[in-house]
Amino acid sequence: MPELPEVETIKNELAPQVKGRCFVGVELFRQKAVHEPSPEAFRQSLIGQEIMTIVRRGKYLLLRLSGGQTLIIHLKMSGMLLLKNVSCGPEKHTIAIFRLNGSADLHFVDQRQFGSMWLTENENKVIGKLGIEPLEPSFTPVILGNLLSQCRAAAKVLLCDQHAIAGIGNMYADEALFASHIHPLRKANTLSTDEVKRLHRGIVKVLQAGIKHRGASINTYRHPDGGIGKAHLEFQVAHRRGGSCLCCGSPIQRVSLRGRGTYFCFECQR
Ligand SMILES: [Zn+2]
Repeated sequence: MPELPEVETIKNELAPQVKGRCFVGVELFRQKAVHEPSPEAFRQSLIGQEIMTIVRRGKYLLLRLSGGQTLIIHLKMSGMLLLKNVSCGPEKHTIAIFRLNGSADLHFVDQRQFGSMWLTENENKVIGKLGIEPLEPSFTPVILGNLLSQCRAAAKVLLCDQHAIAGIGNMYADEALFASHIHPLRKANTLSTDEVKRLHRGIVKVLQAGIKHRGASINTYRHPDGGIGKAHLEFQVAHRRGGSCLCCGSPIQRVSLRGRGTYFCFECQR
């Protein structure tokens, strides 16, 4: 699933291509992907509006439009936003094609078909309950410590809770816990002050590295130009089951935590 670094990369690479351009047509191939308003109102309202800015909040992309509305997109498990030549039609998994004035159109393609869209004047209805942004200065070790202390579940569960911290998912939670030498099943409220500080540093470090390497293309994640990210090549544990720990040489372990594969080194993480 695209996480903060992947969505941030898409935002950074889409912005110069689509800012200032207008919707001239909207083709919907999966009506259910539109959560608000009705698919027909969605289509009609978009046409004629200009894309003013693109911002990211958690794993959501927000395209703020000239008419005062925001097109909110969540890529969910496998969504891709691809810029394609104006002559391109849908492929097998295309959810929507946004025809823009100018040279390329924006295609929303999603193999798993969970990708979601909203068109609203009230962004908070969709993103209002998201937690803190982990790369903002307001995310401090003290804030992280407070969140952890209120959570009786495993530390990894807290990291992936979008209402606590927005944007971290399975891959970067595993990487952040490895970077801070904390076992993913450690109870969140048992971490010491020193461990909280290490975890804070680990979170910021792995997210910044993810952005620097333009996201992780483990599965379907692609850049808007169709290129792949390189962040997964730097992963220490995530999706490396059976590989050797790059620190101590022990085999990387995998356990299931709330249905998600969780990768760690039993020597390096306590
Ligand atoms: Zn190790």
